This record gives sequence, structure tokens and C-alpha cells, in this order.
Amino acid sequence: MIMYEAERSRLVNGLRSRGYVTDERGLEAMERVPRHEFLPPDMRDQAYIDSPLPIGMGQTISAPHMVGIMLQALDLQPGNKVLEIGAGSGYHAALMGELVRPGGMVYTVERLEPLGRRAKETMERLGYDDVVDVVIADGSLGLPEHAPYDRITVAAAAPDVPKPLEEQLADNGRMLIPVGGQGYQDLVLVTRKGDSLERTGLGGVVFVPLIGEHGYRDQSLRM
Ligand code: SAH
Repeated sequence: MIMYEAERSRLVNGLRSRGYVTDERGLEAMERVPRHEFLPPDMRDQAYIDSPLPIGMGQTISAPHMVGIMLQALDLQPGNKVLEIGAGSGYHAALMGELVRPGGMVYTVERLEPLGRRAKETMERLGYDDVVDVVIADGSLGLPEHAPYDRITVAAAAPDVPKPLEEQLADNGRMLIPVGGQGYQDLVLVTRKGDSLERTGLGGVVFVPLIGEHGYRDQSLRM
């Protein structure tokens, strides 16, 4: 049974007509990946509203327009090796998997084991486990074993760009990361050309905190 297909295409057409997501490859990936499958059962009916939603353990899945903007800024190409910090539900990772096929790979790191385990099961159920690998660890340290990465995307807000992530970004690579505190951050695009790193601010965003050695130290530290 095909579920939610009409709702999904209405949502994506809405993003298209509002005009701030113009990258057709990203929009088409959003038409293929079933967002409701990544949500807890009681949230599924809201999957195709353009809104962030709770996924358990105090964490959230980003709003679809934010996901579209991030996919566009990342400019993913088939064959890219990608690192994501903050797998959460795994939705963003599955979309990136669609865009790096064939030949690419997405490594997505999650610090909360129950969320990481659920994301892994979702990848297997939906057939993304060949292109998305879920790793349970502190992603503020990056994932040195597969570095360098063509693209890095961080789904949680950091006080500054973690050094290990800069070091693990490949030449000509692009990294997206929300930087700042107090419930409001700047989405920063970091690009590498040889030894030099350039930062461009893309605008204000709100993400949950990156908790870890190169992030915020613990959850009780209110941002
Ligand atoms: N991209 C996700 C949304 C992620 S929400 C999706 O599509 O559903 C941000 C996630 O970052 C949360 O699940 C949180 O637990 C995780 N996180 C926070 N700090 C982290 C760290 N140091 N390493 C890995 N994951 C972290």
C-alpha cells in the first residue's frame, strides 16, 4: 500500500513554489524518501507538515524546508563520502544516501544509543543500509577511520567549529554546521581549498546542542 504519497508531493511542491529550495535533485530525493517512516508512530500523521517534530529523548527532526536548504548548500554529488554528526531519526542521512548513489557513502554518527539503533533499523527496513552506515559515538570528534570527507554536515549546534571536523574535511570539501548558543545559531558553510578554510554565514537557525568533547559539555548546560 502506498501511504502518504499525495501529502508528500504536496509538501515538496510547496517548497518548490516558495522558491528558497531550487535544487531539483534535493527536491526529488525528498519526493522519494518516506519521512513518516523515520518518525515515532504517534507522529506519523504530521510527517508532511513543514515543521520540526520530536523523535524521542528530547531530540527533533528538522523541518523539511531546513532539510531542503541544507541539502542544497551541501551540493552533494554521486560518489561523495559524507560524514553526518547527529543521525537522529536517520531521515537526513537517507536523503543524502539517495544523492551520493552510485558509489558514495554516508557515515552518520549518533551519541544516543537508542536513537542510533532505531536509525540503523530504519535504514535496513527501507534499503539504505548499503549507502548509510550508522555509528554510535561522540561525533564532535569526527570519525577519523574513514576521513577525509567530501562533505560534513552537523545537525546539532556547536560553540565553534570542532577542530577534528576541520581536519577531516577533504580538499575542495564543504561542511555545514550551526555555530552559536542561546537557542539561536548561524548556519555556517566551511569550505576548504588546500590548507585554507573559508567560512560563510548562511543565516539564523535553531538546532539542539552538540553534546561532546568538542561541543557543549553536558545537557544540563542550558544554551
Ligand atoms: N539529522 C537528524 C536530526 C538530528 S537532531 C534527522 O534527520 O532526524 C540532532 C541529533 O544530534 C540528536 O539526535 C542528538 O542526540 C545528536 N547529537 C548531539 N550531540 C552529538 C554528538 N556529539 N555526537 C553525535 N550525535 C550528537
